[in-house]
Order: sequence, then structure tokens, then C-alpha cells
Amino acid sequence: MEHPTNPAPDTGPPDPRAERARARARDRIDRETNDALAALAQRDDYGEAIDYFANILRQDNSPPALAARLGRKVVGLMCLQVPPELFVALGLQPLRLYGGSLGAAKSSPPGLPALMCPLLRSLMGELVKEPSLGTLDWVIPTTCDWVSGFESLRELWFHDTGTVRMVELPRRKEHPQATERWLSEVKGLWDHLKGLAGRKAGRKELLFALEALEAARAALGRLTALRRAGQVPAVYFFLFTHSFFFDSVPSWSKAVHGAADHLAARKPAPGPGVFLTGSPIVFPNLKPLRLFDDLGLPVLGDDMCSGERLLFRHVALRDTSEAGILRALSETTHDGCLCPVFAENRRRLGPIMEAKAEAGVKGVVFHLLKGCHPYEMDSLTLERDLAENDTRFIRLETDYAPEDGGNLLTRLEAFKSTL
Ligand code: SF4
Repeated sequence: MEHPTNPAPDTGPPDPRAERARARARDRIDRETNDALAALAQRDDYGEAIDYFANILRQDNSPPALAARLGRKVVGLMCLQVPPELFVALGLQPLRLYGGSLGAAKSSPPGLPALMCPLLRSLMGELVKEPSLGTLDWVIPTTCDWVSGFESLRELWFHDTGTVRMVELPRRKEHPQATERWLSEVKGLWDHLKGLAGRKAGRKELLFALEALEAARAALGRLTALRRAGQVPAVYFFLFTHSFFFDSVPSWSKAVHGAADHLAARKPAPGPGVFLTGSPIVFPNLKPLRLFDDLGLPVLGDDMCSGERLLFRHVALRDTSEAGILRALSETTHDGCLCPVFAENRRRLGPIMEAKAEAGVKGVVFHLLKGCHPYEMDSLTLERDLAENDTRFIRLETDYAPEDGGNLLTRLEAFKSTL
């Protein structure tokens, strides 16, 4: 690890300091995960259907263990813009590379930028804990500057890395060339993944994957409908979506239906419902979610890439040829993405207004991670658009540290009283 001046790795015995740092990171991260899962298991509405997901996260999810458990080659994936169907069609397991752990952030190498995106600082700590994460083949869509530049930052501290495929994300959605450009990126990635999988694949495999992912979307859609009715605690929703990357798609979809059956019997949570937006909330960072549940501010919807945007909307398939499927997948993932890195993002008001009409959302909570500039800028235009639509709004700037919990609580209590 040890950056100063980035010495080349010698192939001698393992560096005892790196081993100690790794052991410290493992201890911190595993304890934090287990504490978060233990706290969930204390809830009155906990049950076997919820425990399925907790059990996935209790297991060793290091890439070698995950590959052995699922019988699939694991490929690291930084952002969600690329169609998950491409991985499933080739029997590959996409593993989302971002971090929700404070313990991991604390275990990250010294010398990183002070105001670094907490998700990626946490990922740096996960790399300290689990070097095999770094030797995976990675796919990096060029979303925000932290993500696009992460590779050059990583190689300062970590030398043993797998291949990295950058996928160029056109930032102007409406531009006709952008659609064609993204299609060519998706096609290029499809060929690249075939190389990683060491096998041929085409229309048949893509249709199989589409069917599996459409079933997962249907399962998530059922859960989201219960959520609109106030029957899905925020902490559970993000537990379910986070575990998607540590399970096979069919098993995950079946378990989501099981959780929906369990939660369908739950009374709707009292209190004014809110819509959650902004920087992604990633397990085990449950701090903001616990506040909503404890304060009686049920989260009736979100548009986070770690939440309801996990699987995009249903894919509109007009042409079932291989080329037709790739075009439908690229259009769905480009048009349907609400990430703030796009030049123009006012369409993200749509899902919020839909949830307001459908579920009676009373206000919008904008979760902003310190260092997340794309969402910070986005929050300003969204606040104006919501004011024009007579919708209450609060911005919560925070990180993974517990110290600001009291301040967030006070602000949310005041916000609740206005709803
Ligand atoms: S958009 Fe924000 S939260 Fe997401 S990776 Fe970039 S800086 Fe981090």
C-alpha cells in the first residue's frame, strides 16, 4: 500500500505494515456490518424474509468467496449506467464498487484528498481490507470526476490491479449523437465482457438475461408499490437493494417477493411521507434512514442509484435481434438515468411529482454527501423546481461519521413540523 512517491511493489514476503492495516480494516468493517445487521434483527417487524438478505451480507463476500458461492466470475462495476443484462447473459456477476462503511473510510490510505467522496474513500478502505477486490476486472462508466479519476488515484496506492474498462458516458441525453455514442460504448462493452467471460454469446443469452432482469424489476416494483403505501421501512429497502450484487438474480427476485409478502401485512407507517433523493445511501451507512424511521418520517420513494434506480425501468424491446436488444438496453440505461452528471437533468422532477400524486408525499429530503459536487449543484435546481411546484424541501449535508446525528435529528424534526 504505502504511497509516498509510489514505490514499485517488490515480490518479497508480505509487508507486515500492510498486513496490520488489512487486519485493522477487516476488524472495523466486519464489526460495523455485523452491528448494523444485529440492530435490524432487533426490530419488531423483522422476520425470516428480511433475514435472507441480512444473511447474504453476513457471509464472506470477498470476490473469491462470492465467485465460489455463485459459481460465476465476478467483475467490478463502479456506476450503474451499463446494462446489467450484459453481465447476466455471460454468466458474470457484477459487483458494485462503492462503500457505505465508516470503518472502511477510516481504513483508507493516508494522503487522500480531504474532501473526497465518502463512497470512494470507503472503497479505498475496502481495497485495504480485501486486495482481491483490486485484482478484479473493473468496468468504470465515466460519470462524475471522482469516479472517472478514481483509477489514477487508486494506482498511487495499489499496484496489483486487474483490467479496467472505461465506458464513456455522453453527458447530453437529447443529442442524437449521444444516443449513438452510448450505443457504441454498450456494444464495445458487450464484446469486452465476452472476452472476460471467454465465451461467445448473442441474442439467445441476451433474451434469457432480459427475462431474468425483467422478473427482478417486477419484484422490485411490487416492493416499491408497498413502499408508496408506507409499508416498507427505509432501512429494509436499502438492505434489499444493496444485497442484489451478492446474490444471483433469480434468488434475489424470489427473496424480494418473500419480503413483499412479509411486509404486506405491516400497517402503513404513521407520519408525513417523504421522498428521498441525492447522493446514494449505501449499506451499512444507515444513519439517515434510522432517523427517518425513528422520527416517523416514512420514506415513500427515492430516486437513488442505491435505491429504486437499482434496475432502471422496464426495457422497451421493439426488435429482438441482438442489435435490437443492445439498442433497447442502451436507450433504457441512457434515457432512464437520473444521475446529476448529465448536462441537463430537470426530468428528475418527474418521479418526485409522480410519487407526490400517487402516495401523498409531503416533502423532499435531499441527502448530500460532503464532497459530492454533482449532487450539490443538482440540489439547487431541484430546490427551485420543487418550490415552483409548492413542495417542501430540505438539504441534509452529511457523511458517514455519527457526530452530526443530533444536528440532523433537530433539522428533520423542524422540517417534519412544516409538513
Ligand atoms: S455522484 Fe457524488 S456520490 Fe456519486 S460517486 Fe460522484 S461524488 Fe460520489
